[in-house]
Amino acid sequence: ESAAPESQAPESQAPESRSEASAPKTHAFEADVAKLLHLMVHSVYSDKDVFLRELISNAADACEKLRYEAIADPALLAVDPQPRITLTLDAAQNRLSVEDNGIGMSADELAEALGTIARSGTRAFMDRVAAASGEGAQLIGQFGVGFYSAFMVAGRVEVVSRRAGSAAAARWSSDGQGTYEIDAVDLDAAPARGTRVVLHLLPDAARYAERGVVERIVRTQSGHVPVPIVLRETPE
Ligand code: ADP
Ligand code: MG
Repeated sequence: ESAAPESQAPESQAPESRSEASAPKTHAFEADVAKLLHLMVHSVYSDKDVFLRELISNAADACEKLRYEAIADPALLAVDPQPRITLTLDAAQNRLSVEDNGIGMSADELAEALGTIARSGTRAFMDRVAAASGEGAQLIGQFGVGFYSAFMVAGRVEVVSRRAGSAAAARWSSDGQGTYEIDAVDLDAAPARGTRVVLHLLPDAARYAERGVVERIVRTQSGHVPVPIVLRETPE
């Protein structure tokens, strides 16, 4: 009796009904990103709360970018025009997600934005870390190192995104250990527009799926954000 899969050649069967989902492609992080992630994963920086400020700030930026692009292309905002950030707490699954209905990212943009270190702020941070040896933890607070700070609290991060105006959605996923995966996903598994960042919380970060904790962080660190923030719990 063979354990081989029943079909090795799905392409030959009814390609017109094939799903958008495909086998994930694995990519290596740029060397400096890998270094930065190592720092995050092994961070002893005590104020891990900052990750939420960073993700909310990215979500708000994405809404602002959409507003800007919609000046030239108003159709982008024809549906669901009000910018919104939704935080979903799932204590049972130990997950927290941050979703926006902003500009979104294509698969290529996911790899570019979340696999390289083009950003000047992160570059400056890494230069300081190299010079300071051993003080990385303190520097995290000074610089605000953005998206990658999610790995201070999550063992796996998934980013599911659909760019405004696009008929395709993609997922980026990583455990922060040197590689990330990108695959196409079905539209019904993605936001209608924008980006959902799902954090699979580490056991010692389970508090970030608690309403009281998240409410307090949002109030103290994201009070100035110009986009409404909605808090949901799953299951409702
Ligand atoms: P920064 O916000 O300083 O550019 P980050 O590390 O926080 O750096 O994010 C890196 C990049 O990833 C952003 O510049 C943006 O291009 C992309 N990005 C992150 N989160 C989102 C999001 N929610 N929507 C769209 N793009 C995003
Ligand atoms: Mg940012």
